[in-house]
Amino acid sequence: MAKKLPKQLAILDEDLCTGCEACITVCPVDCIDIIAGQRDPNVLKVCTIDLPRCIGCTLCEQVCPWNCIQMVPTEQVQINPAYADKIE
Ligand code: SF4
Ligand code: SF4
Repeated sequence: MAKKLPKQLAILDEDLCTGCEACITVCPVDCIDIIAGQRDPNVLKVCTIDLPRCIGCTLCEQVCPWNCIQMVPTEQVQINPAYADKIE
């Protein structure tokens, strides 16, 4: 049986992320990883969230200094083509 998803999931806008890693330090389930930045040559690393492991705790959203993370109702994430396949 598939894992029960939380009511909301953290959606991270990698275009806004500065790679400061503040979110990584607070995530209780270690589901945020640092990856190479693709967009801005001055931003060498950005964060990405492994959505199936997110428990929707909101801590990352609260600490992000750049407001790159938003909590989104899971049913909205499930119908968004950009994320749907990540949480099947
Ligand atoms: S909402 Fe909580 S569990 Fe999900 S990525 Fe953010 S800190 Fe981690
Ligand atoms: S706290 Fe915000 S800016 Fe910093 S790494 Fe996380 S998502 Fe990016």
